[in-house]
Amino acid sequence: MAKTYDAIIIGGGHNGLVTACYLARAKWKVLVLERRGLVGGACVTEETIFPGFKVSTAAYVNSLFRPQIIRDLRLKDYGFEVVERNPSSFSPFPDGRSLTLGADEAMNEREIAKFSAKDAAAYPKYLAMLERVATVIEPTLDQIPPNVLRPGIGDLLSLGQLGLKAKQLDGAMGEAIEVLTGAARPILDRWFESEELKATLATDAIIGAFAAPSMPGTAYVLFHHVMGETNGARGVWSYVRGGMGGLTQALARAAADLGVMIRTETEVVRILVEGESAVGVVLANGEELRAGNVASNVDAHLTFETFLDPAVLPPDFLAEIKRIDYASASAKINVALERLPSFTAAPGSQAGPQHRGTIHLCPDQDYIERGYDDAKYGRPSREPIVECTIPSSVDPTVAPPGKHLMSMFCQYAPYTLRDGRWDDAARNAFADRCFDVVEQYAPGFKASVIDRQILVPPDIEAKFNLTGGNIFQGAMSLNKLFLFRPAPGYADYRTPLKHLFLCGSAAHPGGGVMGAAGANAARTMLKHR
Ligand SMILES: Cc1cc2nc3c(=O)[nH]c(=O)nc-3n(C[C@H](O)[C@H](O)[C@H](O)COP(=O)(O)OP(=O)(O)OC[C@H]3O[C@@H](n4cnc5c(N)ncnc54)[C@H](O)[C@@H]3O)c2cc1C
Repeated sequence: MAKTYDAIIIGGGHNGLVTACYLARAKWKVLVLERRGLVGGACVTEETIFPGFKVSTAAYVNSLFRPQIIRDLRLKDYGFEVVERNPSSFSPFPDGRSLTLGADEAMNEREIAKFSAKDAAAYPKYLAMLERVATVIEPTLDQIPPNVLRPGIGDLLSLGQLGLKAKQLDGAMGEAIEVLTGAARPILDRWFESEELKATLATDAIIGAFAAPSMPGTAYVLFHHVMGETNGARGVWSYVRGGMGGLTQALARAAADLGVMIRTETEVVRILVEGESAVGVVLANGEELRAGNVASNVDAHLTFETFLDPAVLPPDFLAEIKRIDYASASAKINVALERLPSFTAAPGSQAGPQHRGTIHLCPDQDYIERGYDDAKYGRPSREPIVECTIPSSVDPTVAPPGKHLMSMFCQYAPYTLRDGRWDDAARNAFADRCFDVVEQYAPGFKASVIDRQILVPPDIEAKFNLTGGNIFQGAMSLNKLFLFRPAPGYADYRTPLKHLFLCGSAAHPGGGVMGAAGANAARTMLKHR
C-alpha cells in the first residue's frame, strides 16, 4: 500500500495536537487519530456531564503551557484565553483561621504572620530558592534531552551546556539536588515552623503522586507545580476561559487551518512495523493506515507493550518500559453547585478571594501522611486530602447564571483496593468522605450540590486510556525524568524503531499541560525525517 501521510499521530491530546501543528507548519501531511469523540485528552471541556455546565473533566488549571507555543501557533487568535486567579490559594483551618497566598508579597507576609512572624520573613527567601532552581531547570522543559547512552557531538555539547548552567547554582547546588531528588517534608520543616503554611505547600508535593510528603521524589512534584507562568508572571496558575478545552479546541482550530486532518472516534490498536521501521497503524475496525512516520501521544506501556509485539524491541529497552510506575491514587470529582460555598473562615456566598484560587483542605502534614498510610495498604483515605477549585467564580461562562462549578482533586484513592473493587458503592463512599471534608470547612456545602461526577483511577484509565489512571502517563520520579524519560538513551522522542516517536507526556518533560513534549518531539521528527 502506498504511503499516504508524512505522519500519523496516535492520540489527539494537547501534545499530539502541538506535534501535528508544528509538522504541518513544515508542510508535512499529518493525520491525527483520536479514540474519543473529542480531542484534548486529559485537557478537555465537556458539556454533557451536567447540562449547562462546561466541565474541565480532568485537568483544571494551567500555568505550564509553553508561551512560545502560544505565540508560534497564534493560539490567542484561535480563542485561547487565560483567566488569572488572584489570589492563588486559600486554606481554611478547623480553628476558623485561614491562610491566603498569591502574587502580592505584602499580602503573603501579612497572611503568614498570622501564624508565624518567622515564616513570614522566610517565605520570600524560600520562593527565591525555588526560583534559583527554576532558572536552571525550566529551560530544560523546551530542550530535547541528550542521549546519555550513545552520545554524539550534539549530545555531549548539550550535556556540557547543562553542566555550565548548573554551575550558575554555585553554593545553591546542594539545595537544588535536594529539590530534584528529595522529600518535600524535611525541606518544608527546615524552612518553616507553621503547620498551616507547610500543609498548604505540601499538598502541591503530592498532586498526582502516590506518595506522602515524607517520601523522596515529592520535592520535585512540589517544584514541578511552581514552574510555569501566566501572562509572564512566574508560578501564577490560571483557568482557561470556557474550561481547559479552550486550549485544545484552539489547538484543533490552528491544526485544521494548517491542513492537519483529525479523525475522532478512531482507535488505534496496533503499530505496523516492517523491518526496523514503523510504517503505519491498524485501527480497531481493522483499517490499515500508512505513513512515513508515526508519533504516539499515548503512554509508553500502551505504545510499546500493547500496540507493538514486544519481540520487535530490544530487551533492555523493554525492561526500562516495565520499570515505569503507573501507580495512582488520585481521584477527580466534578461538582455542579447551586451556590458558592460559604467558609466558616471567610463567610459569604458572593464570589470573593476565598473562592478564586485553589482551596486547600488539609490541616497539617501528618494529616497527609495518615491519608497515605491508608492508601498504601489498599484502602481509600479515611480522611482524604481535598483540593478544590471553582472556575465559575472568575469565569461565568462555565456555569449557568447564578450556579457554580467545582473541581475536587482528591487523594488518596488507590487504583487497587485491598477489599472489594471500585464499584458504585465504593466510589460514592469515597466521594461522600470528600464531601464531608468540604462540609467541615463550609457548612451547607452538601445541601448546595446539584450533581457530581466521580472519577477514581480506574475511571480515569477507562476514559482517557491512561494506564493505571496515572495522570502523568507514568510517575515523575527521578529515574524517569529528563535524560531517563521514558528510558535512558531514548529521551529524545526517538524509539528503538525507526520512524516511531513518542510525542506526549510519557516523554520529557512529563505530565502537565505544557505542550513541551509535543513541540520537542516535532523538532526531533523534522530533524530525523
Ligand atoms: C484528573 C486529572 C487532573 C489533572 N490536572 C491537571 C492540571 O490541573 N493541570 C495540569 O497542567 N495538568 C493536569 N493533569 C495532567 C495533564 O492533564 C496531562 O499530563 C496532559 O493533559 C497530558 O497530555 P498529553 O497530550 O501528553 O496526553 P493525553 O492527554 O493523555 O492524550 C492522549 C490522547 O490519546 C488518546 N488515545 C488513547 N489511546 C488511544 C488509541 N488507542 N487510539 C487513538 N487515540 C488514543 C486519548 O484519548 C487522548 O486524547 C491532570 C490529569 C488528570 C487525569
